[in-house]
Amino acid sequence: MIEFKDVSLVYPNGTEGLKNINVTINDGEFVVIVGLSGAGKSTFIRSVNRLVTPTSGSLLIDNEDILKYRGSDLRKLRTKIGMIFQSYNLVNRSNVLKNVIAGRLGHTGTLRSILNLYKKEDIGLAYESLQRVNIDDKIHSRADELSGGQQQRVSIARVLTQKPNYILADEPVASLDPPTSHQVMTYLKKINKEDNITTIVNLHFIDMAMEYADRIIGMRAGEVVFDGPVSEVSEKT
Ligand code: ADP
Ligand code: ADP
Repeated sequence: MIEFKDVSLVYPNGTEGLKNINVTINDGEFVVIVGLSGAGKSTFIRSVNRLVTPTSGSLLIDNEDILKYRGSDLRKLRTKIGMIFQSYNLVNRSNVLKNVIAGRLGHTGTLRSILNLYKKEDIGLAYESLQRVNIDDKIHSRADELSGGQQQRVSIARVLTQKPNYILADEPVASLDPPTSHQVMTYLKKINKEDNITTIVNLHFIDMAMEYADRIIGMRAGEVVFDGPVSEVSEKT
């Protein structure tokens, strides 16, 4: 469970990224945050894995205030949270296998990842994860040889090897054409339901949000201006 309690975030230049947010996201929910560019969607998502730090309030994840976290607590928190970005964030010169295994072992630092010496179980898990997003046939391709949609599926597979409790996707389809966007959203929703992974997705198209969300949070100028099930959106807009 993720609980924002009176959370505000003021950037060093004085911009209010979040204003007094009170939102509870329950386990297993598929929440879509919609709003124009600059509304605060990224700031909301990035607060949850502490890429940015709110300046007041409390943000509880599984009943612990993560705004108090430092060092090793933060590292542990981030292992529980899978991140998906608009720009995929794969290592271009590495192959798909190496990128996906990085979800589990990290890109750098371990001798294993430097030498490409992986355990059988890690390779098995990577392969299984790629199968779930139907891109296992590209396991030996370089990341930058793939199309945008394929790269985003690889980034979903990378998150799956992490076995996260939460998935945060910041504009995951903003660089993709409509059919590919639907494909990526379908995989995110399927994984949410099959693995019961609480998922928060930022989108700037309300139509796409209505099609996939269990619940929609609308943001404007750092504030939550709507929070409810899809059925309530059509009544009010
Ligand atoms: P969205 O994801 O909805 O486009 P953001 O969360 O990126 O919105 O931005 C919310 C507001 O905070 C915007 O006014 C943006 O310009 C501002 N902002 C975002 N990041 C920073 C930053 N690092 N420093 C200052 N202002 C920022
Ligand atoms: P988004 O795609 O989330 O809207 P942007 O393209 O607005 O992101 O921002 C890209 C980067 O610049 C982010 O790291 C964000 O925090 C930072 N940023 C955004 N707005 C500002 C701002 N007004 N001042 C400083 N940094 C900003």
